[in-house]
Amino acid sequence: MKKSYFLLVCACALLTGCKHTSSSLEIRLNQVGFRPLQEKTATIDVYTADAAPCSVAILSETGDTVWTGMASATMINPLSGKPRQLVDFSTLTTPGRYTLHLAPYTLHRDAVASFTISPRPYRELTRQALRAFYYQRTAMPIIEPYAEGFARPAGHPDTLVLVHASAATAERPENTIISSSGGWYDAGDYNKYIVNSGYTMGVFLMSYEQQRAYYDTLHLNIPESTLPVPDMLAEAMYNIRWMMTMQDTDGGAYHKLTEPDFEGFIHPTECQKPRYVVLKTTPATLDLAATLALAARIYAPYEHVYPGFVDEATEAAKHAYEWAKANPAIYYDQPAMNEQFTPAITTGAYDDFQAQDEFYWAATELYLLTHDPLYRDEALSHCPDTFIPAVWGNVSELASLEWMLHPAGIEAFAAQRQADLLAHLQPYIDEAETSSVHRSPYGNRAEDFFWGCNSEGCCWRGIECLYAYHLTGNELYLTNAERCLNHVLGQNATGYCFVTGFGTHSPKQPHHRLSNIYPNGPLPGFLIGGPNRERQDDGIDGVTYPENVSADESYLDFRPSYATNEVTINWNVTLFALTAGLDALYQ
Ligand code: CA
Repeated sequence: MKKSYFLLVCACALLTGCKHTSSSLEIRLNQVGFRPLQEKTATIDVYTADAAPCSVAILSETGDTVWTGMASATMINPLSGKPRQLVDFSTLTTPGRYTLHLAPYTLHRDAVASFTISPRPYRELTRQALRAFYYQRTAMPIIEPYAEGFARPAGHPDTLVLVHASAATAERPENTIISSSGGWYDAGDYNKYIVNSGYTMGVFLMSYEQQRAYYDTLHLNIPESTLPVPDMLAEAMYNIRWMMTMQDTDGGAYHKLTEPDFEGFIHPTECQKPRYVVLKTTPATLDLAATLALAARIYAPYEHVYPGFVDEATEAAKHAYEWAKANPAIYYDQPAMNEQFTPAITTGAYDDFQAQDEFYWAATELYLLTHDPLYRDEALSHCPDTFIPAVWGNVSELASLEWMLHPAGIEAFAAQRQADLLAHLQPYIDEAETSSVHRSPYGNRAEDFFWGCNSEGCCWRGIECLYAYHLTGNELYLTNAERCLNHVLGQNATGYCFVTGFGTHSPKQPHHRLSNIYPNGPLPGFLIGGPNRERQDDGIDGVTYPENVSADESYLDFRPSYATNEVTINWNVTLFALTAGLDALYQ
């Protein structure tokens, strides 16, 4: 660094309080792209709480200054205590690639953040977030041209699966061999779980229903792309077919298909452990019923592609619901199960000890499929009193959203559910408007940062905002959906764009066995879990967090960090549902 240059830098810093270093992460913004007319902001790291507002300029690729302005007064991030400023450059609307500079910008080409403005910034992100499910397929080789650089042999055929003692019946005694082939690996591990698949399929197919025209033209480059069915529905069918194999002859659904304990970080073809289907549970069975009822409705126009599917799925859904009515409180308690049966099972529990929400969702989907008023009455009787955002273990909001979208006959009930949704969102939207250092309705409270929060907190809140926008027409909800996406794509306390393969600074070491097998990894298009104030993996396998790290910075791009850096199907579904929901509006 030349001396004169250095002195100028220091002088500016002293005068303005703006911090200049070579790291582009001093400026945090959406690293994937903005559409021309959306709100655009960046968060700037400053030295001190009394820092004067930074002077900001935006330069085009040819070096022309196309926008200048001032950042906000300094705000304090309530979680870390760090001073930040916001700059709002929404008035820049011309598509192009730009760099954002802090003064004296003509000398500081390194104190910058780059970004793009384009009419369709999320099209490729949506495509890859959906292709992530293709990469997760079990039991078939991932081959070119579909692999797009990430080919691998088939893993886990699951044609010889053992019935665990916990799931034995007279018809299928312990160690009976069944085939339960296909479907997606659930997450960073190699197992398959019905409760998580059910929630994932719910969000997946409801997103399709909301944006049929959009998804009908979205080409994923998968082996089924030649079929006369939207690629997205073909991809979903790969998992639905597997889910159907998880139904026992009595109607109940096995909770999961699993090895007894997790495989190491090895290639899927190297796995040797036996695979079991374990205990049939009420939540799993109701999630299966809801998924198949929803699928029977969504796939009805494609009977010519999947002959017999609608009838088969309808009957399976009804059968599952009947089983759950007869067995309304069988829950997956892994420690208790292991005291009673062998071998012990220690993989993901997905334990859920409340099935009222699954009854509500399954009955809702069965009503929307069959129009049998008995299912409607069952659904209304199971609607919870309080609003709870949807997660794999609590799916009541999926049912409520269905009633908001299909209110015929129960308009007052549906209107109350909508009022509950809007009331839930309002405090977060108020925070985005008034106090958020990231101009976001998510990420302003310590409790926002939990295991999987990038999906279950941030992206899902964005999806709720999108539903609110569609239901009310109020553009403030659309703005806040985009703000949630900005947060997960880089305008956050870590400066990471939390989708593999996207942005200028994204995770490179996800806790993902499949990604680990590629020298050119990680696999692209995966949303990773994100900062997690509970840090359950601290001290395990070399995971170490900085002392006194804040909730919003409790993140490690480190392969063993399962509590902050894993991937899962239920997280990726919210990513693409949000990006697709926005991209569909930009057409
Ligand atoms: Ca539940």
